[in-house]
Amino acid sequence: MVKEYARNPAPGLLDDVRTFLNTRTISHDTRGPVDDLTDIASSSQQWHAEFSDVVSCPTGDELPGVRALRDGIRRELGGHHPPGLQDWLDMYPVEAYFDADTATIRHRARGNTCAGNVLAIVVDAVSDGQWRRLRACPGCERVFYDRSPNLSRVWCGMYANGPAGRACGTIAKVAAHRARQRPIR
Ligand SMILES: [Zn+2]
Repeated sequence: MVKEYARNPAPGLLDDVRTFLNTRTISHDTRGPVDDLTDIASSSQQWHAEFSDVVSCPTGDELPGVRALRDGIRRELGGHHPPGLQDWLDMYPVEAYFDADTATIRHRARGNTCAGNVLAIVVDAVSDGQWRRLRACPGCERVFYDRSPNLSRVWCGMYANGPAGRACGTIAKVAAHRARQRPIR
């Protein structure tokens, strides 16, 4: 799948989270939901083509929990202080450690689980203020990293830029224009 999702990447490991969230999107063709998680997790080779080594490939037993985490984290997008995060931390505890390379406090999963590793990256992103830049496009639900200075970006893109891309911004503009043109009955 995913390579096209490399549009609007997030910095560092946060891009693993963005890719993870984008295993569920809206199809360009049918406009119905598409869930690629099971497919990607079915082979660890495929998994690691999409994710860094920090995010381990979930086992079959882990998959339902990992999927629930993905859909739960999606609901926390776009805010400074994601309120629902605590419930996930109770379920998958992370621990703080001092990262000598960056001289900062970072977090890591207790136990090398896929869900825990993802959550640790989310916690780091909340701590350093990057989390609020991760947002979902209202047109296709793809998650992108908003680099605009005042967090004003709404759409994944205005132009399709490739076969899997969608010009959500332009599509919305055209729809709004058509709505205005419609005669009043
Ligand atoms: Zn979009």
